[in-house]
Formats: sequence, structure tokens, C-alpha cells
Amino acid sequence: MVLFWFRRDLRLHDNAALYFALKKHSDVQPIFIFDTSILDKLDNASDARVTFIHDTVSEIKTELQVLNSDLKVYHGKPLDIITKLIANKNITHIYANRDYEPTTIARDKEILNFLSSQNIEFVLKKDHVIFDRNEVLKKDGKPYTVFTPYSKIWKEKLNTFYTQSYPTELYFSNLKRTAPESLISLELMNFKPASINVPEYNLSKDLIANYKENRDFPALAATSKISIQLRFGTLSIRKMVQLALKHGDTWLNELIWRDFYQSILYHFPHTVDQSFKPKYDFIPWSNNEDHFDKWCKGETGYPIVDAGMRELNATGFMHNRVRMITASFLTKHLLIDWRWGERYFAEKLLDFDLASNVGGWQWAASSGCDAAPYFRIFNPYLQTERFDKNETYIKRWVPEYQSTKYPKPIVEHKAARQLAIDTYKKTLSNEI
Ligand code: FAD
Repeated sequence: MVLFWFRRDLRLHDNAALYFALKKHSDVQPIFIFDTSILDKLDNASDARVTFIHDTVSEIKTELQVLNSDLKVYHGKPLDIITKLIANKNITHIYANRDYEPTTIARDKEILNFLSSQNIEFVLKKDHVIFDRNEVLKKDGKPYTVFTPYSKIWKEKLNTFYTQSYPTELYFSNLKRTAPESLISLELMNFKPASINVPEYNLSKDLIANYKENRDFPALAATSKISIQLRFGTLSIRKMVQLALKHGDTWLNELIWRDFYQSILYHFPHTVDQSFKPKYDFIPWSNNEDHFDKWCKGETGYPIVDAGMRELNATGFMHNRVRMITASFLTKHLLIDWRWGERYFAEKLLDFDLASNVGGWQWAASSGCDAAPYFRIFNPYLQTERFDKNETYIKRWVPEYQSTKYPKPIVEHKAARQLAIDTYKKTLSNEI
């Protein structure tokens, strides 16, 4: 028997490793593991992402049951579960799609070593990105650390081989036939079902074609809202690139940023908690806890910042332009360590993805590989003027704005900006 292990690729259609497993073997048993080494770290028993995964796993189970198969779902540490599974069944191969985060790479290495010792093949395929690891490299074999040349080579290399879908459905008859089992409940795993508002995604031709003009206005529903789907793999990146090629180059660029940050995380795993540019780790952050608390709650007295943070707290989503503004505000105006902000977003974002989140935060803090220069400090008032002129977005999230109930700014813009520039400049000019 062969196992196919779902991880961050929660779909039956166009799934690379599932396709290769089904094409090559009969009796393919799909499995999913609720990984306690990840779940145990979550503080919130009603974490919406766990509910999202549980709902999706349940849907896949139903789809497989219609095909006279089933998804076997386990709860525990992957190595323990896999050890038990191979002890009881005659398993020759385990297939899965590759992941690029340092902890998942370590997990897969441990599993690979163990399975090799048992003469079982662990087959990992590329599915989560268009080009992975060593496919887009500079001539000297080193990874790109600047987006524009990376994206140029990415586009040059792209052809239908990389975007074609994997027609898993041709081989569904190779799924293992098995009697249906019920799904472990969230409660049994010590979680509570959360009410989640997964934003409805929009992949219409119009949205993609008009993306370039409209994407920066947070009051408009002008971005696709597929980030959650891409995070958990309920949509295939190859299908998204096929759409982008048809309808919009600017939107394609955003998908390339996603690949770029995955590649950066793979090649520079230390960037999870260290600055890409080492000098930036010497910035003497103020780390004022009261300021941080006000930023988290959306009570800074800067309406566009507060609107963004309240959108995040209420929905688990924040518009990209506002992610940039709130992140710049935290790291520059408040001189608070980007890692604090990154952690807060990681806790709250439904689409939290380590590579893109660290990438976005280090971009805003200027410490990242292809980051905003340190003296680029978003002026929240000018950003509002440009991107939320009628304050529609602000009024949506900060209804008391303009009333006496609304707090005064916690820092003064000009002084805060100057302090940030002086602090960064002084630190960066020091020899280390
Ligand atoms: P669209 O604008 O429709 O773009 C389509 C897709 O392209 C997105 O779903 C996403 O997968 C990808 N994409 C778009 N912009 C970026 C980008 N700048 N970097 C990488 N990929 C991108 N994105 C996440 O998926 N998870 C995160 O945890 C995350 N954290 C961020 C933190 C900060 C500080 C910043 C500035 C950005 C972050 N982003 C993150 C990137 C971006 O904000 C979101 O991907 C985007 O807002 C999601 O909305 P959408 O699906 O409507 O995107």
C-alpha cells in the first residue's frame, strides 16, 4: 500500500504528489495528521485556522467517500503516527508535497531518515510554488535576493510545463477502497469550533484585469482574497498563474513575490527571526509595551493604522496596502521590533504564511533582502489622502473617528519620523 500525506495542499484536484502517487500505484490511501507539535503551540482554543483546516479535511473526506475511498485522519506527532502506520500495514511508499519552512524541512528530514531505515520511499514533489529551491538561481548558482531580476528570470523560464495541471481525476480508481470512518472532532483535540469569515475570493477576469488600477484602495473589493486558499492549498498555484497569464501581468507579479519569499526563506532560514541584513539587528528598538498594545488594538490615534488593525482583529484579514502602512508605523513611528509585529500578524492572520509574513515585515522594517530603504517612512496622512481619500475604509473600521472618543495620536508624526531616521542612520553607520 502507498500513503499520500496531505499537508498544506488540501485539495484533490491538480495536486502534484497525489497525481504521481495515483499514476504509479494502486491502493493509494490518503491521510492527514493534525500535528500536535504545531497545535500545542497555539494559544487560542478557538483558532480560526484550525477550524478552517478541520472543515476542509471534512470536505475532502466526503469527496473521497463518494469515490468509495476515505481520508484517514490522525492526531499526534507525524513521526509517531507514521511509525505506527508502517508497523501495521505493508507500506512501500509515502508521497507528499514539499514545504519550505525550516521546521517542516527538519520534520521531513527526520521522517525521510526513519523511512529509509525501513526501506520505505518518501517521495516529495513540488506543488506549493511554480519554481522551487534551485530552479531560479543566478548564473553563479546563488539565489537571487532582489525581486526584479528574480522575476525576470522567473518569467523567462516559465512555460506550460510549469503551469499545467496534474489531472488526478484520471487515476481516482487507484484510491484505496475502504469503509468510511468518522472524523475526529475539534473538541477531542482540545479546540473549539470558531466562527470564521473566510473572505469570498474573486478570480473574475475583470478583477484581475483591473487589479493594477484598483489594488491599492482598501475600501474597494479589488484584490482576489485567495491568500488563505493558497496558504492551505485549497486552490492550486498553477491554476492561478494560468489565470494571471490570461488576464493580468500585475497580478502575476504578486504571485511571483510569493515564490520569491518562499525561495528566500528556503535559502536564508535564519530570516525567520534575524534580519536579512545583519546590521539591522543592532537597531536599539524602543519596544514600548503600551504603544505596542495600542497598535494591536487599533488605538494609536492614526485612523488608517487603527482601521487596519481593527480589520485584522475582527476578520483575520488585512488589505495589503494597509499591512504595509501598519507595519511601517510599528517599526518606524513606534520603533518597535519587527519581530513583535510579525508574531502578532502570525497569531491573527487567517492567511498567515511564514515566508510572506517575514518577507513583508522585513520589507517594512527595511531589514529584508529587497526592502524599502530605511528612510522610506510611510506618512499615514498622505497614504490616506492617496488611497482612502473619502475615508470610506477608515469609517468602516473606526466609526468613532472624528468624535471625542477617538484617541489623540500616541506619537507626533514629524518627530517620530525624524527619530526613526536618526536611529536607523546612526546604527547603520556604525562598524560592526
Ligand atoms: P492579491 O493582491 O489578490 O494577490 C494574489 C496573491 O499573490 C495573494 O493571495 C498572495 O498569495 C500573493 N501575494 C500578493 N502580494 C504578496 C506579497 N507582497 N508577498 C507575497 N505574496 C503576495 N501574505 C500572505 O499570504 N500571508 C502572510 O502572512 C502575509 N503577511 C504579510 C505581512 C506584511 C507586513 C505585508 C506587507 C504583506 C503580507 N502578505 C502576506 C502579502 C499580502 O499582503 C497578502 O498576500 C495579500 O494582502 C492577500 O490578499 P489577496 O489574496 O487579496 O492578494
